Amino acid sequence: RSRTAEVLERRSKIIPRGVSQVQPVVVAKALGGKIWDIDGKEYLDWIGGIGVLNVGHNHPKVVKAVQEQAGRFMHTCFQAVAYEPYIELAERLCATAPGAGEKKAFFVTTGAEATENAIKIARQYTGRPAVIAFKNSFHGRTLMGMTLTGKSSYRQNFGPFAPEVYHAPYPYAYRGWDTKAALEGLQELFDTEVAPDRVAAIILEPQLGEGGFIPAPAAFLRSLRNLTKKHGIVFIDDEIQTGIGRTGKFWAIGHAGVEPDLICFAKSIGGGVPIAGVLGKAEIMDAPAVGGLGGTFAGNPLACAAGLAVLEIFEEEGLLEKGQHLGEVLHEGFQRLQARFPQIGDVRGLGPMAAIELVKTPEGKEPDGALTQKVIDAAREGGLLLMKAGMHYNVIRCLVPLVAGEDEVRRGLEILEGALASA
Ligand code: PLP
Repeated sequence: RSRTAEVLERRSKIIPRGVSQVQPVVVAKALGGKIWDIDGKEYLDWIGGIGVLNVGHNHPKVVKAVQEQAGRFMHTCFQAVAYEPYIELAERLCATAPGAGEKKAFFVTTGAEATENAIKIARQYTGRPAVIAFKNSFHGRTLMGMTLTGKSSYRQNFGPFAPEVYHAPYPYAYRGWDTKAALEGLQELFDTEVAPDRVAAIILEPQLGEGGFIPAPAAFLRSLRNLTKKHGIVFIDDEIQTGIGRTGKFWAIGHAGVEPDLICFAKSIGGGVPIAGVLGKAEIMDAPAVGGLGGTFAGNPLACAAGLAVLEIFEEEGLLEKGQHLGEVLHEGFQRLQARFPQIGDVRGLGPMAAIELVKTPEGKEPDGALTQKVIDAAREGGLLLMKAGMHYNVIRCLVPLVAGEDEVRRGLEILEGALASA
C-alpha cells in the first residue's frame, strides 16, 4: 500500500467531509510549477493552489523575504504598532490600480474577508442597504460571502443568509446569454425587486473563477460602469482569482479599460502566504470610522514581506508578458484539442486564465461532469494536476504558475491530450 493511501485514510477519519479534496495527492515538496507527492511521483501543478501561485511554489525571493522578516519581527498587529512593509505594500498596490485620483488600501487575511469589507465600506459610503451580485459567482464562505455567492453548491442549506442581497444574470455567451440579455436581467431586477437608489454596491468577478472561467465581455463591464456611475452605486471588482497578473494584465478589469471604485484582492499577492485586502478610491475607502476595519492578523508582517517580493518578481521576471505568452500557447493548444475532440464544446478565458468546457454533444451543449472527472483522473495518472469549475463541474480550468516554462506548458497539453483520448 502506498504512503499516500495511508495518509488519505487518516484524512477521511479525522477531517469532516465538508472539507472537499480535489485530488487524492499528498504533497511532500513543491517548486515553481511542480509538486512531488510523498510517494515520489512528480506532477505539473495546473491547480496552482487554486489561484495562489502565480509566482510559483516556493519562489526563492518570497522564501528569502519571509525568512528575513521572521528574523526581524513576526507580529505586532498593525492596528497596535505600525510597520513599514504594510504601508509600502499598500503604496505599491495602489500604484497598480486603474484610473487617476488618490487611492487607499488595507489588508485582511482571506478573500472572503476582502469581499465582506468591500461591502461594509460601500454601505458606509452610500448609506444604502442593498447589494447586487451575480448568478454563478463566488465571493467566499463567510455569511456575507456565501450570500453574495451565486453558485448554489457553496450555499447548500446554510441559510438564513444576509438580507438585501440580489442576484443578476452574468453574461455567458456560449450558452446564449449575451451582454444584452444580462443587462436586461439587471434592469428587470431594478424594476421588480430593488430600486437602484437603494443599491450600495454591485460586486462582480471580471471573469468567473469557480463559476466556470467565463469572462464578462468588455461591453458588459463598460455598461455596468456607466450604470453604477449614473445611480451612485459603488462598483466592486472582485479580483481575488483574476488579479495579480492571472489574465496577462495585473488586474483583469484592465482588459475592458474600466476603472472600478474598489478592488478586492487575495490569493496570489502573498505568493503562498495568506493575505488579502481592498484598495480603491480614497474618498470611498475612508467612509468607515476609526476602528471599523482591520483584524488581529490582518496584513501580517510575513505576508506583507511576501507581497512585496511578489511585486518585485513580476517586474524582474516580466511575468505579465510571460503570462500573456503562456496564455497564447494554452489557447492555441486548447483549440487544437477542440479540433480533435468534439467533446470540447468551448475554449475560453482571458490570457493564461484559460479553460475548456466539456459537453456530451457540442450541438446540444449538454454539460458532461462525469467525463470531466474521468479526464482529470487520467491527467493525474499522466502527471498533471487539474481542477474543475462551473455550474455543472464540466469545465477544466488552468491556473498554471506563470513562472512555468513554455516547454512545461506544452508537456501539460500533451498529458491532457492523452487523458482526453483515454477517457
Ligand atoms: N472571490 C473569488 C473570486 C474567489 O475565487 C475566492 C476564492 O476562491 C474568494 C472570493 C474567497 O477567497 P478565500 O477562499 O480566500 O476566502
